[in-house]
Amino acid sequence: MTKQQQSGWHLDNSYARLPNTFFSTINMNPVQAPKLIIFNDSLAASLGLDAQALQSEEGIAVLAGNGVPEGAMPLAQAYAGHQFGHFTMLGDGRAMLIGEQLTPSGERFDIQLKGSGRTPYSRSGDGRAALGPMLREYIISEAMHALGIPTTRSLAVVTTGESIIRETNLPGAILTRVASSHLRFGTFQYAAKWGTDEELRELADYAIQRHFPDVKTDDNRYLALLQAVIQRQAALVAQWQLVGFIHGVMNTDNMTISGETIDYGPCAFMDTYDPATVFSSIDVQSRYAYCNQPNIVGWNLARFAESLISQLHIDYGEGAKLAQDALSEFPEHYFANWIAGMRAKLGIFNEEQQDAALIDRLLRMMEQHRADYTNTFRALTFDTLEESDLFSTAEFAEWHALWQARLDRQQESKELISQLMRSSNPAVIPRNHRVEVALEAAVEHGDYSVMEQLLDILSNPYANSKEQAEFATVPESDGPYHTYCGT
Ligand code: AMP
Ligand code: MG
Repeated sequence: MTKQQQSGWHLDNSYARLPNTFFSTINMNPVQAPKLIIFNDSLAASLGLDAQALQSEEGIAVLAGNGVPEGAMPLAQAYAGHQFGHFTMLGDGRAMLIGEQLTPSGERFDIQLKGSGRTPYSRSGDGRAALGPMLREYIISEAMHALGIPTTRSLAVVTTGESIIRETNLPGAILTRVASSHLRFGTFQYAAKWGTDEELRELADYAIQRHFPDVKTDDNRYLALLQAVIQRQAALVAQWQLVGFIHGVMNTDNMTISGETIDYGPCAFMDTYDPATVFSSIDVQSRYAYCNQPNIVGWNLARFAESLISQLHIDYGEGAKLAQDALSEFPEHYFANWIAGMRAKLGIFNEEQQDAALIDRLLRMMEQHRADYTNTFRALTFDTLEESDLFSTAEFAEWHALWQARLDRQQESKELISQLMRSSNPAVIPRNHRVEVALEAAVEHGDYSVMEQLLDILSNPYANSKEQAEFATVPESDGPYHTYCGT
């Protein structure tokens, strides 16, 4: 057995069997001195990979793009996208897909190296990534997974032993990203704009095969594909809103067909509840503010739908109408997901017409009193309504009485209500000040212990354990927090 087989790689390349307009095969860009910084043992195990073998010199070479496992066929994917509203050609400019790992349980996951060097889509970029942003993606994506939110995963980060030039010299790094696929809205936009009809259809069939095999036999399977993507995205963005996650760069190239969160650039979690929150320094018009996220998903879905119109009906006008009808259901799907999640956060099992008003009233008070989003729900869960601007108001007392009366109008016991709330309200989220401290220790001082502890705390966000208490505190100075794209 070769070392690579011992590592458990079992790769297929179904994407590479699509027409070759969808990708470019690429040259490897070996790096000087790969060093493993962090490795995800449990993810490796679920992928059927041998953690020990992967951490050997040959194993690490694969994670650094210095070698390929058997069966790999490194390629860069072509895609387009609307970036802050403007359509442009993109593609993997600093990533390569080495193949799809077939897991012992029969699943298929893309294995992508991010930061792996130049490709035909790099434009003027160097194809590289810095250590800080790659660790940041690792931390936030794994935290999202632990919160139960669909997301790409992070298998490993290696440093390259090379500096990359940004405003200053930064240590280069490569993240191994695992995704149920990297098919994006932008992949379809690319096909619709530059591919043939036949190529677009092949892409759509491929997406159906990979993500929605159930719709294969539908009378209009492309319409069913559109409807399924609308539903997945409605569920996803509702989950973001419910935990206070702000993606920051919701361009159509950063939205997946699978409904997984992808591309953790300038993303961050909100501390103080303020619907207008924006963290990204480049989002000067607040396009991707917290409160805009659902509408932006709707807008992005419209771009996805446009790219599919020619497949929906032989008559373009009829196709457009079908697309429009499907899109018109998005707000309803979104609201249904969101209010179901909000009811759970408040321990509500059944449905009453007035629930929306009850929730709205709470959120408005939280906004007015600048309450911490996560900790407010946590305090309601554990009835720890100690002195705070919000909890000491008469208005809150009134709301609290209404809420308690609402809980009394259902049959579920106090214990069940508490259980539902505990599993719907995380004790810990990756708070910005904590993430920053962990990244600084790692990048500036080569101390990875802070990040490892943070990852450990975030791996079980609903536990409400003693150790988590200090990670639940809000930063002392809640000044404006800025995130950067980190490209
Ligand atoms: P992102 O902001 O990561 O979603 O990237 C947007 C586009 O820019 C994608 O096509 C990336 O591949 C490309 N890109 C980002 N950083 C680099 C880089 N350092 N070199 C080349 N291309 C890049
Ligand atoms: Mg991207």
